[in-house]
Amino acid sequence: MSHPSPIAIDGPAAAGKGTLAKKLGAYLNYACLDTGALYRGVALLVLHAQADPTDPHASLNAAQKLDIDAIDQTAIRSAEVGQAAADVAVHPEVRNCILELQRHFAANPPAGKDGAILDGRDIGTFVCPDAPVKLFVTASAEIRAHRRWLELSASDKTLKEADILAAVIARDKKDMERAIAPLRPAEDAHLLDTSDLGIESAFEAALKLIVSIGS
Ligand code: C5P
Repeated sequence: MSHPSPIAIDGPAAAGKGTLAKKLGAYLNYACLDTGALYRGVALLVLHAQADPTDPHASLNAAQKLDIDAIDQTAIRSAEVGQAAADVAVHPEVRNCILELQRHFAANPPAGKDGAILDGRDIGTFVCPDAPVKLFVTASAEIRAHRRWLELSASDKTLKEADILAAVIARDKKDMERAIAPLRPAEDAHLLDTSDLGIESAFEAALKLIVSIGS
């Protein structure tokens, strides 16, 4: 049985989008694109060049050089790169540079895959406004900060949960208030609050929705 594609999953930082996307991707045989990793990849290039992520020229220069397959998946996960990603993501020229790549992935999943799942902030509203399935995954800022702390403190014991909470709130604000493609649910998105849901329950709820929409 074929299922609808692409699937758009949006939501704030650490809401569980990525975990849900990977689980759905494995179950449905869909390819996943973590679009936040693209912005993080651009941010890392800017930081490595000792440039300023709030500088549109430096950020565009980095976006034009981005090689998806060469993104350092460990280095991009730091809190510093997360904040810098939110800075480079404000620039329209950076977003445009990455837009076609995302749309191409959505329309042409890699060979052998039956569909595509993209997770990010603006997939349902801007990148794939016609996606047949749109999920907006959220959770309270406290719960998201706790999850992020658990993830990051494994490699950095000095991290304080209160600092991570402040950073999560600041990043949400930046993502929601930017002029272009701000973080918000698409009008036809289905909301999934993972504050009290385990990943299995979130997965079951999302799958039920996908099956009900059909292909
Ligand atoms: O999801 P993640 O935390 O990795 O995203 C990092 C940053 O990249 C976000 O805070 C946001 O500013 C930006 N982003 C975006 N649009 C997307 C995905 C991520 O602006 N589709």
